[in-house]
Amino acid sequence: MVLDPPLPRPLVGRLVVIGIGLIGSSILRAVQTRALAGTAVAYDASESVRARVAELRIADEVAATPAEAVAGADLIILCVPVGAMGAAAQAIAPHLKPGAIVSDVGSVKGAVLKALSAHLPESVHIVPAHPVAGTEYSGPDAGFATLFKNRWSIVTPPDGADEGAVAAVAAFWQAMGANVETMGAEHHDLVLAITSHVPHLIAYNIVGTAADLEQVTQSEVIKYSAGGFRDFTRIAASDPTMWRDVFLNNREAVIEVLGRFTEDLIALQRAIRWNEGDTLFDLFTRTRAIRRSIIEIGQETAAPNFGRGQE
Ligand code: NAP
Repeated sequence: MVLDPPLPRPLVGRLVVIGIGLIGSSILRAVQTRALAGTAVAYDASESVRARVAELRIADEVAATPAEAVAGADLIILCVPVGAMGAAAQAIAPHLKPGAIVSDVGSVKGAVLKALSAHLPESVHIVPAHPVAGTEYSGPDAGFATLFKNRWSIVTPPDGADEGAVAAVAAFWQAMGANVETMGAEHHDLVLAITSHVPHLIAYNIVGTAADLEQVTQSEVIKYSAGGFRDFTRIAASDPTMWRDVFLNNREAVIEVLGRFTEDLIALQRAIRWNEGDTLFDLFTRTRAIRRSIIEIGQETAAPNFGRGQE
């Protein structure tokens, strides 16, 4: 087994993670495993989550209030749903030390940057980021230390952001095993609309459509779910709060991509109606090549059935 080389000293003095769900608890676990922070502090709005985090021992301190959490903090990472970012920023704003870096992991970047900028003082550095890694599970027990390893983390600094602060956030994600890319928030939101947000909407929709076909739901949908549908049900099991917030906060890009998607779908419907086999065959050949190139760059496994055993 090849071990990651040890770091000479903790990267961050006092690190605070706010919102200890799948992503927040994965950050804490990775930080603990790799000794990336002098002190790692956790805060969550939910008392039961705070109690669970203390039990799990994935943070050095579990703070009782946002003020207590961020006092003297060097890096604060907001890991709450996109729609809660503004409230989380407002709660910490008066207690931040000048020069602190405030980052987040939200799946939408334009709306989050606006929400953070509206509440945080000018004396702190805002450097948003989005780790493109996750599962359909949520809560503090769902996280794991290797979640970000070999995944992308997209840093979206606002115009004029402090270079040192941007470099510190990038170094933090690299130290957790992620590859870092930097881009503007608007571009991020368009890219993620096509690669993640609209695919999730399609999954939610097809599972909803199947559920509406009542007699099918009762037996056959479950029984024959290996035929493609099962992979949609996994995606459609993703957290309802998180995904509601993603669509409401990336409205423009999602609607733009959905418009194109709908046009392409109608073209396919037409090809089927008029027996245009070549149209279908050409598309399926192109999409197969895309899948192969994703495997080649190491973002997916070539194993049949996505590497799952035959259940
Ligand atoms: P999660 O498992 O649902 O955890 C979010 C936690 O934040 C919950 O414990 C929640 O408590 C808490 N919270 C909500 N509002 C808060 C507030 N104002 N102050 C403090 N804590 C608060 O969510 P997640 O999947 O980790 O997602 C967190 C963020 O990461 C989201 O912005 C999401 O877009 C982004 N992200 C998610 C994924 C993914 O695959 N899941 C991937 C990349 C990025 P309650 O449950 O009591 O509300």
